[in-house]
Amino acid sequence: MPELRIDPISGRKVIIAEDRAGRPSDFESTESVHPPDASSCPFCAGQEQQTPNPLWEVLGESGDWQVRVIPNLYPAVSLDCNHATEENSFQTLSSQPAYGAHEVIIESPRHVQELTELAIDELAGVLLVYRDRLRHWSTAATMRHATLFKNVGYAAGASLEHIHSQLVAMPFVPEVIVREMQAAKQFYDREGICIFCRLLQKELEQGERLVSEVGPFVAFCAYAGRQPFETWILPTSHALHFHELSDDEALPLANLIQQVVSQLQTQLKPLSYNLVLHTAPFGEQLPAAYHWHLEIIPRTAQLAGFEWGAGVHINSLSPEHAAKRLRDAFI
Ligand SMILES: [Zn+2]
Ligand SMILES: [Zn+2]
Ligand SMILES: [Zn+2]
Repeated sequence: MPELRIDPISGRKVIIAEDRAGRPSDFESTESVHPPDASSCPFCAGQEQQTPNPLWEVLGESGDWQVRVIPNLYPAVSLDCNHATEENSFQTLSSQPAYGAHEVIIESPRHVQELTELAIDELAGVLLVYRDRLRHWSTAATMRHATLFKNVGYAAGASLEHIHSQLVAMPFVPEVIVREMQAAKQFYDREGICIFCRLLQKELEQGERLVSEVGPFVAFCAYAGRQPFETWILPTSHALHFHELSDDEALPLANLIQQVVSQLQTQLKPLSYNLVLHTAPFGEQLPAAYHWHLEIIPRTAQLAGFEWGAGVHINSLSPEHAAKRLRDAFI
């Protein structure tokens, strides 16, 4: 059973999940990837018996699944334990079961690896599954937040190469989101506007970090990106929760994500990245509390001593130069 611990000094939350070490992997301990082998890949159509029964499926016209959501066989958190509701139930060196839900979203029945290999309407359909799973968990009384993320490539921590994302719903709001919300609330009290909306205004005015814009979504290189080419995607109209995405917004968002990933592919070979969806906690009502966004973090360098030890990232390419290279790459 995974265990949730809080470091008694820093307050950092850590999940201890030894079972995850036994996960199957398509990757050797180097950058090399096993050749795709659909006959043994547990995520390919025809191999459904290798994975648990689906929690959710989107069927195509032929009745075959197009997107399939399953429980993670090697979860970092589990629903099969008591969930402690008291935040202050932690004492020095105490722990509690890591309560939560950990799902895998298999994004194509075909053995493809990158979201640029999906048709645009397939990717739009995948985004609507993200929305619908987040909607599902937003109504669960025990859950406060869910993180949706994608690991692409060995350097980004992927274990299987077949295109998929993961969702982890938890009874607490992760520290990263808490910090971003504190900044948003303080900024709103001072300036009377959402901090992300103001950032967007500035990025659109200045233009030097802009990467692409499609319909109501914009992509720019993060002003203080942690890695070269770190790119954020935001809706230009203020929106708290990703799970309120409309059907019509899925296509332009899919378009922009595909554009950004193709631009990144021209600069980084092979491209490994983490894509993370940051959305407001479930039930958050204060409109200016947050503004959902996607963070795409290419993994070009290993985190080393200074990053681990001091928590300060060293980025060897300025976001302004990175954005220019991405814009120039786009034909
Ligand atoms: Zn596969
Ligand atoms: Zn906003
Ligand atoms: Zn964020």
